[in-house]
Amino acid sequence: MCAARCNSVLVTGCSRGIGLQLVRELAKSSSGPATIIATARQPADCTALQELSQTCPGVQIVTLDVEDLESINVAQEKVRSIVGEKGLNCLINNAGVEHSMDIHTITPEAMMKHFQVNAVSPLFITKAFLPLLQTAAAQSSGMGIHRAAVINISSILGSITCNWGEGANFKSYAYRTSKAALNMVTRNLAADLGSDGILCMALHPGWVRTDMGGPHADLSVEESVSGLLNVLSQLSDKDHGGFKDYRGNNLPW
Ligand code: NDP
Repeated sequence: MCAARCNSVLVTGCSRGIGLQLVRELAKSSSGPATIIATARQPADCTALQELSQTCPGVQIVTLDVEDLESINVAQEKVRSIVGEKGLNCLINNAGVEHSMDIHTITPEAMMKHFQVNAVSPLFITKAFLPLLQTAAAQSSGMGIHRAAVINISSILGSITCNWGEGANFKSYAYRTSKAALNMVTRNLAADLGSDGILCMALHPGWVRTDMGGPHADLSVEESVSGLLNVLSQLSDKDHGGFKDYRGNNLPW
């Protein structure tokens, strides 16, 4: 991600996995954003993130429990004071949960938890940070992370089209439905915020070896994040309202 094209980025869920690696890569790039806001619900427990913020002055840690509206509002105030008049260029809604549950094990509580974290929270975080994104958007033109963008980290498992035939053998009700809902949240945001010049899209990171993806996944977290950042750096108006994977391929909703 090129600094000349993006001054500030906020990533949710940076205690581990893809979120932590996104912050690592952004911080080590000489052309990375000047301000990298890494959020976590319990920063005191995040040793790797704390070490990163001590060695990289651009990395600022902000407490954010994505399920808690009060926490979202407090985080927004803090971020407003960090980014100031420049506003926020890029919001990456990355935090997520996944518990595999089939028709026999699924519960209403599990459904609601997944909907809250994976679909409702990204919507309300975007809503809270909208004034900061609008401030950034008003200072530039065109579409992309150089101006303002909302990137929702979704999953191909949320694709209704792909959940059929050979790909349909993994029946994780709560996760798949919550990511399908996130995809629709993304399309709604794109329809709403396009006129403000805020690019909105959904991005699938691939199947990645994290706590969520497990040890047998296809990709290392480095491979996934390198691809994601490459895609992010090239986004333009053509990608607004789209669903892509970490290689930049368009995915079916
Ligand atoms: P991990 O399980 O490794 O990390 C999940 C992150 O989300 C953690 O930082 C966790 O924080 C955070 N989180 C969960 N709940 C909350 C909350 N209430 N408030 C704040 N943070 C929270 O997952 P990945 O890194 O693999 O996944 C990142 C994103 O990528 C997710 O949206 C996931 O759905 C998506 N994805 C991942 C794939 C994979 O193969 N790994 C495939 C497709 C999509 P804490 O440490 O506090 O729990």
